This record gives sequence, C-alpha cells and structure tokens, in this order.
Amino acid sequence: MDYQAILEEISHEIQPELGRGKVADYIPALSSVDPHQFAFSIITTKGDAYHIGAYETSFSIQSISKLFAFTLALDIYGSDLYQRVGVEPSGNPFNSLVQLEYEQGIPRNPFINAGAIVITDLLISHYRDDYKAYEQILSFVRAVSDDLAISFDPIVSSSEMDHGFRNLALANLMKSFDNLQNDPRSVVQTYFKQCAISMSTQKLARSMLYLANAGTDPITNRRYLTPQQARRINAVMLTCGHYDASGEFAFHVGLPGKSGVGGGVVAVVPNKMGICVWSPALNRYGNSHVGTLALQKFVEKTGLSIF
Ligand code: GLN
Repeated sequence: MDYQAILEEISHEIQPELGRGKVADYIPALSSVDPHQFAFSIITTKGDAYHIGAYETSFSIQSISKLFAFTLALDIYGSDLYQRVGVEPSGNPFNSLVQLEYEQGIPRNPFINAGAIVITDLLISHYRDDYKAYEQILSFVRAVSDDLAISFDPIVSSSEMDHGFRNLALANLMKSFDNLQNDPRSVVQTYFKQCAISMSTQKLARSMLYLANAGTDPITNRRYLTPQQARRINAVMLTCGHYDASGEFAFHVGLPGKSGVGGGVVAVVPNKMGICVWSPALNRYGNSHVGTLALQKFVEKTGLSIF
C-alpha cells in the first residue's frame, strides 16, 4: 500500500477543517498554540516510517502520557492494580467528579484524570519519591520512543498547577475515600509534569510500536509487557481512550487509540504499525477534531481497522 500517497490525500482533504474547534485554553500555556497545525506519522513494526505535515514539531502530549504511566504501573503491580482503578468506560468527561463520589473514590479507568492520578500515586509509592516516579515515567517514554532528548515543558506544568483546581479536587476526593496514598498536591504536581512532556508525531508513533507488537519493541527487541498485558492496554484504549467519545471513536475509526488535550491522538494497528496525528483544535469532548477526522479517513482508505 502506498502510505505516503494516502497521507498526502488525507492532508489535502482535511484542509477546510483545520482550525475548527478550540484549543485547550483551560491550561493557559496551551491557549496560544496555533490551531492550524497538522501532522500525521506512521511507523510500521518493520521500522518503515511515513510522515506528513509538521511531524518534527513537539507539542504537549497531555493525556497520552496516561498510557505510558499505565504501562509502567501494570508492569510493576500486575493485576493488583485493578483494586485501585477499574477498566470500564466512564461515559463522562475526562475531569468529571460526580461518578467518583458515587463509586467511592475508585475511578472507572486509568485514562480519565482520576484514574491517571491514582496510577501516578501508585508509581510514587513504588519509587518512594515523587521526583523519582516522574523520572521513571520520562525514562520509559525515552526508551519506547528511542529518543533520549525527550523532556517536559515546565511552563505548561506550572501553568496547569496554577489552574488545576479540579484535578486537585479529584485527588482530595480520592484521598477522602482512602484511594490515594501520597500527598494529593504532590501527586497532582507529578501528574501535571508527565502531562507536560513534549513530543512530535514522529516520536509518538514510534512509541506505540511496543503496543502494536504484543508488548515487545519490534526494533530494539526490548520487552516491556507480556502479550496479555499489551492486549489489555489496547482493549482499555479502545473502550476508554477517548473518554465519553470512545464509542464514537470505536465506531468511526475502530482502532485502540488515546487522545490528549494538546491535540495529539495515538493509535495502534495490532501487528502492523504505530500511528500519531496532531492538530491542536479540539472538539467538545476534548479530542482533536482534525486528528479524529484524519484517522477516520486513514481507516476508510486503508481498511486497517480491527473490525
Ligand atoms: N493535563 C490535562 C488535565 O488534567 C490532561 C487532560 C487531557 O489531555 N484530556 O486536564
């Protein structure tokens, strides 16, 4: 299949939609990002790469980081993890408090904010230190993307800390239900740092290869997860990766995927490739408008859906 030609077609077709939607201005440092940017990268498990647009431009990965923290925690805690966080779609916005109150502080899944905050808490407990937990997340990201230069943007994380009242509320609520072991403020601060990691579509597509290849990086042969664990992460991505629009994403795209409010969307074609699309303007669910559309077109043109 001529992937490069398909990416060119997609890039052409999405032009009229570019900039439609809204950048994530609830994090002030992200409000000045140009909404018209676009990039699409594919890397196959054999290592062949195809790109279009601003594929070398780094952006804030935000909730895509939840995937990496989840992987690390699953490797450390195994299925004990699921005593603290579920694997059920929430059907609610990513930062919702309501369900958490009804369900006694156990978040529905690791991809809504409450679930990701619990995962960060588990990592802090394991590494006995918040800074060390962040460092481990970062070095995991560097390993799977095969790039030691990846780092976080301190302006983005402190901007989010200054306005992160809702995430602090989620952490405090979980603490009140005994589902947080560490200080809520330091957990949230660490969570914001992981969200503020900057990466390009090129690096993010590369970082999906371990999930496309049953838990083992097909290029370095490093094993990060068992095949069963990797399958489960892909399943949670499919059912929960786009919050209350996860059903729609499964319906239109049909690939395990994870979005972030920086406008990035990663996706996995099992046994075939890692994908990342980026365009900063978001739809009302907080998922990239053009990113979702471009993936839909990609699947229509290639037939590469899991269904
Ligand atoms: N850091 C963001 C937040 O907590 C991540 C949300 C997202 O990307 N959906 O609100």
